Amino acid sequence: MASKKTKVVDGFTAIRAAQEAARHGHGDPLRPDAEKKTDTPRSQPAAKAGTRIGKSVMPTKREIICPQCGYVSEVTGKLQLFVCQGCRHRMKLDDVTLPEGDWSGELETGGDVTVPAGTRLKGGKITANDIILHGKMEGTELRASRRVRVFAGAAIDWVRTAFRDLEIGPGLNITPGKPLDARHIELHGAFCGNLRLTGTLTIHPSGDFSGQVKAAGLSVHEGGGLRAALDISPGHAPPPQPPKPKSPSRPMRKSLTPPPKP
Ligand SMILES: [Zn+2]
Repeated sequence: MASKKTKVVDGFTAIRAAQEAARHGHGDPLRPDAEKKTDTPRSQPAAKAGTRIGKSVMPTKREIICPQCGYVSEVTGKLQLFVCQGCRHRMKLDDVTLPEGDWSGELETGGDVTVPAGTRLKGGKITANDIILHGKMEGTELRASRRVRVFAGAAIDWVRTAFRDLEIGPGLNITPGKPLDARHIELHGAFCGNLRLTGTLTIHPSGDFSGQVKAAGLSVHEGGGLRAALDISPGHAPPPQPPKPKSPSRPMRKSLTPPPKP
């Protein structure tokens, strides 16, 4: 899932980049027009634009889930300030990487928070759209309005962690000791326990699941292990989110369910 935030440039972006390059070329007062006409490969703007087109990536739509009301929004490209369509809650969409060492505090962002391997979360609360955990939870409450990604070497405290989606990285061996409620779970490591999902359990080639699953969907990639009591039915999925409200009226907000707390 590492590449999911990027995709190949579309034609529109390529044209925009080309126009940009052309503008740079014409706007350069140090270059006489005659020289520009014979556009050689050493022409800096053109060459630069070419490389950019080759490597350039477009951000795909981001799914932002409001930590206040649980409303699901889709955001394209860079956006500094996000306003929830459901409850008008405002937040920044900055991606934050915590410093190494002991950390405690209060942090809220609609972007991602990365907890590096050398970080110990001692207290306070982190609210983010996605939380990427390599470090150790030793008292901080984690609230991912969308997804928690846990990686090998991390120490996760299931009681203090809330999420909708969960990704368990390769090399991890998870036994939460209590049933987990979530939407989707992506399993690259090993999991032993009880899952209740409104979405899909995906077991990747390096993944291994044992226990009980109740879910709306199940996907097992070749190589993945599964020994479980299964109850898979599309009926476990919740009804679709109501259409985007014109104004945050009371009845619309009431029909939204808050993010599940495990
Ligand atoms: Zn909201």
